[in-house]
Amino acid sequence: PSIFNTVPVAPPDAILGLNTQYRSDPSPNKVNLGVGAYRTAEGQPYVLPVVRRVEQALANDPTTTHEYLPQDGLKQFCDLSANLILGPDSPALVDNRSVTVQALSGTGALRVGFTFVARFLSSETAVYIPKPSWSNHKNVVVQSGLPPTREYRYFDYGTGAVDMEGMIEDLKAAPAGSMVLLHGCAHNPTGADPTHEQWEQVLKVVQEGKLVPFFDNAYQGFASGSLQMDAWSVRRFVKAGLDMMVGQSYAKNMGLYGERVGALTVISSEGGNNEGIRSQLKAIIRAMYSNPPKHGAMVAARILGDTEMFAEWMREKLRGALVRIGTPGNWDHIVNQIGMFSFTGLTAAQVEFMKDKYHIYMTSNGRISMAGLTDDTVEYVAEAMKDAVV
Ligand code: PMP
Repeated sequence: PSIFNTVPVAPPDAILGLNTQYRSDPSPNKVNLGVGAYRTAEGQPYVLPVVRRVEQALANDPTTTHEYLPQDGLKQFCDLSANLILGPDSPALVDNRSVTVQALSGTGALRVGFTFVARFLSSETAVYIPKPSWSNHKNVVVQSGLPPTREYRYFDYGTGAVDMEGMIEDLKAAPAGSMVLLHGCAHNPTGADPTHEQWEQVLKVVQEGKLVPFFDNAYQGFASGSLQMDAWSVRRFVKAGLDMMVGQSYAKNMGLYGERVGALTVISSEGGNNEGIRSQLKAIIRAMYSNPPKHGAMVAARILGDTEMFAEWMREKLRGALVRIGTPGNWDHIVNQIGMFSFTGLTAAQVEFMKDKYHIYMTSNGRISMAGLTDDTVEYVAEAMKDAVV
């Protein structure tokens, strides 16, 4: 008998499993509200024209090669990424107390970051994630060698806003040295973000409790439409002079999903050990996948580093996408929530009903992706929702 026959089947991923079910549904009316990728009004994948243009230029450039990148990635891409999230005048950059490495998109930034935490802070470090959060956070933390995640209250299902009292209370109870995972903007799955004033309160508890923030930024530019505004939370915490970590993804804001383009930045409150930090991040990467892919980082670096292309990117993606996303829905609570996802308030049973009767797929917590709605399907989905709740 094969030694592999005893391998048990893993539970399906909450989000990716849904896509599999959707693909095998033969109904012509099927709608997938679980997708985490932006689509055209007709529901088709979309490549930004500026991305296409850079790719064509790279393809035609005889100096383009497929040589390996160093373990920590393309330097120019890392510098530009740090600028994008921290701001060019960031005290962390000015004081030279940050280290940025290229990562395999947002997930890879978390995975390398938490492995670093497990190895060099303490393998017993408690990691607090919001309740609810992106379903993969808990997996990444555990696979990085840390204990199971703990949760802090985040969302008030009654008001549809952040449960500030609960959040503060839970973070106050966290032991000193714990990591706190924070969504920098456009919280997934609730679409509810703290206000600036509320971020100040969070910062205060984090400082007083000696907690270590890890900001996950998968949607910079998608909450407000402004890259600067969406970096406010991260920049505010950096200004406070904390030890902290920051993950970035270009999956959504450049539409580079499958190219796996992201970055991890470690910021130290004092500085002085960039060499130690960088060398250990490189050692982790070396054993994990040796070095990151080149193509997407080249594309992103060209766009980020060129004033004209940068402006074009902003025009095409950020404004355009927000308008597109705004188009289908007139449901107030959905319009008021931000980012890609929205909580409908549907129960798990209603979600099942939508799937069985209407072939409409969404995660069991009632989260829908605005990217899954098109001009053609919005009425159908609305009718089905009505049928599910009455
Ligand atoms: N963090 C959050 C909150 C996300 O929603 C996502 C993507 N859905 C990610 C990280 C990671 O995405 P990627 O690895 O594709 O950048």
